Amino acid sequence: MTDNSPFLVPMSSPDLTDAERARVMEVVNSPILSMGKQTELFEKAIADFVGAKHAVAVNSGTAGLHLCVRAAGIETGDLVITTPFSFVASSNVLLFEKAIPVFVDVDPLTGNLDVDLVEKAVADLIAGGEAAKKWLPREGARNHGKLKAILAVDVFGQPADYERIVKLVKKYDLILIEDSCESLGAEYKSVKTGLFGDYGVFAFYPNKQITTGEGGMIVTNDDKAAGLMRALRNQGRAPGDNWLQHTELGYNYRIDELSAALGAVQMTRIEELLDKRQQVADWYADRLAEIQGIEAPGIASGTTRNSWFVYVIKVKPGLNRDLLAEKLTKARIPVRPYFLPIHLQPYMMKQFGYREGDYPVTEDLGKRGLALPFSGVMTEEQVETVCQILRSCLTS
Ligand SMILES: *Cc1c(COP(=O)(O)O)cnc(C)c1O
Repeated sequence: MTDNSPFLVPMSSPDLTDAERARVMEVVNSPILSMGKQTELFEKAIADFVGAKHAVAVNSGTAGLHLCVRAAGIETGDLVITTPFSFVASSNVLLFEKAIPVFVDVDPLTGNLDVDLVEKAVADLIAGGEAAKKWLPREGARNHGKLKAILAVDVFGQPADYERIVKLVKKYDLILIEDSCESLGAEYKSVKTGLFGDYGVFAFYPNKQITTGEGGMIVTNDDKAAGLMRALRNQGRAPGDNWLQHTELGYNYRIDELSAALGAVQMTRIEELLDKRQQVADWYADRLAEIQGIEAPGIASGTTRNSWFVYVIKVKPGLNRDLLAEKLTKARIPVRPYFLPIHLQPYMMKQFGYREGDYPVTEDLGKRGLALPFSGVMTEEQVETVCQILRSCLTS
């Protein structure tokens, strides 16, 4: 075996059919490659799916989250409670506007925000003074403003605990941004993710539940915010502005028609795509139950539908995850540590003075989590192969 030999199973794969290919060709053969009918169709499909008044398509999940931060009026020094156990984009969008992410540790079962801690943090941050200090980063928060928002993440496709989060934001008049970039189709107490807060965002990178290549979608019921987001994604052109008039500082966050065409067709297949991912997760769960040394993903009681984004197992405490990953890679099974904690990323440590030990549950999950190959097109044989090799790597 040489180092560049292919893996036995891909880490992830999109699930595309001739229907998607035909729609993209339709766009290629048309004169409209941006801001056309496919974007409208895709927006309508997502709005209908989650029951949102507005869906605003953008060219990445990160762009979508950034526009939520702008629409929320989050500015320099504002405090936003969020999770250190996430993909970096959920915190980066706060840094784009010089706001201060206030990390709160997570629930060990799901990796989602620990709501007991969030309740304490909100009360302390609103009280201010010494009480607030213990939640703030060591550095980079000297001239901080008020607590303005909570940015919750639905980690690995499982909804955060929204009942209590929504109560909190109502009680203290905070904004709630839902990073649902990993949870399209998930349900919390039978309600789909995306709209528990003021704004929610989905993402469509090729490993997500549906893909547009690159792309994202904001959902909201707020007319004013939706209008602002539409202007901001299009270089700050307000309704009525002509092509070279710009009412405010905006961005090019537009999705193109080829990507939107992919998304529009993928949404006609959404239930099939989610069901196939559930089937693969079930195949894994059956086999992993018999393997010593690892834990299958944990599902909270409020999760009435998990939308499988990645399949992340945890090695039992005391077992060396990195060594296991190395063995699996050598045996041509691709795996990824999921997530490396955000507060321990070099630029975060530098700006805010974070240290190892600051968020112990996040760090423990970060050391023990391992994503196995996963997609809706994986076969039962491929799952079997991964599990057999995993078993042998754990016992060798
Ligand atoms: C995928 C993802 C995003 C957005 O990613 P993009 O690559 O910008 O589309 C944001 N937050 C989380 C938690 C994600 O998993």
